[in-house]
Amino acid sequence: MRLAGLLTAVLLLGGLASPAYAERAEPATPSRAAAPLEGRVVVLDPGHQLGNHNYPRRINRLVPAGGFRKACNTTGTATNGGYPEATFAWRVTKLVQARLERLGARVELTRSSNRQDRWGPCIDERGRAGNAAAADLKVSVHGDGSYAAGARGFHVIAPTDRRPWTHDIYRPSRRLALDTRAELRARGLPVANYIAGGDGLDFRADLGTLNLSDVPTVMVELGNMRNPRDAHRMTSPAGRATYARALAAAVRRFLG
Ligand SMILES: [Zn+2]
Repeated sequence: MRLAGLLTAVLLLGGLASPAYAERAEPATPSRAAAPLEGRVVVLDPGHQLGNHNYPRRINRLVPAGGFRKACNTTGTATNGGYPEATFAWRVTKLVQARLERLGARVELTRSSNRQDRWGPCIDERGRAGNAAAADLKVSVHGDGSYAAGARGFHVIAPTDRRPWTHDIYRPSRRLALDTRAELRARGLPVANYIAGGDGLDFRADLGTLNLSDVPTVMVELGNMRNPRDAHRMTSPAGRATYARALAAAVRRFLG
């Protein structure tokens, strides 16, 4: 017993004294448990660029949208206090990116800045953004701008089945939409009361951002920026963190 104790003490001291031992004790890469999304690629599309309104000619140019043409982009909306949708989408997206990267995922964004002197990219580029990256999924982050009285809450938009555009992705995209709704609901966020039939799920054929994707994709309208209650949440750091937690959890649930 005494000899074994002495040996243990010598081994421990030797280990502590040896830098090589210390290096071996630290894993070179995070373990699977610490990085559940390792090897996964996620594309996040933070809505409209802040400067779109400064470039009307470029933004109004028609681009392919999945069997028809549509304007490159729009300016997006804002709260009644002037907080832009572009900035909301950008900040939520950066929070989601940080969360997913902590879980081991590789994250690509469709824009790298939120600036008044930038525009785009157009919806066709946003639509295809996950394809070249061979992403596991793509999520577009938006806020809505309805002036209907009392209109509030989130809704999730997935593509309909349109051959040849979305036939390959509409089923997993629907699953991603269900996962996204579930995680938003789980954090107490209200489902939209003014659109999408009241269940928070919308299926649309007219969005190039969804139609041109070859990877599962959804667009989320996280709230109605023209509604004071939604605007209060969307302009507060705590509110944006809640949205980001839900979206990161949705990605994890879908990829799980
Ligand atoms: Zn938008």
